[in-house]
Amino acid sequence: MLALTLSFMLVEVIVGHMTHSLALIADAFHMLSDTLALIVGLTSVKVSDELYITAGTLNLTMVVNH
Ligand SMILES: [Zn+2]
Repeated sequence: MLALTLSFMLVEVIVGHMTHSLALIADAFHMLSDTLALIVGLTSVKVSDELYITAGTLNLTMVVNH
């Protein structure tokens, strides 16, 4: 997911620059914030020792206490 988001961001920056599309460049930086959010989420999951379940296409992470 992280690699996919980052590669989409790179494609959007390149194509946005080629076509002078501010919308694509703006969305590329949106993808950068998505990537940072994913890093924060993955880090928090790794830091916690609890069991977790990844569900659905929104990549929602649910911490389960057991
Ligand atoms: Zn987003």
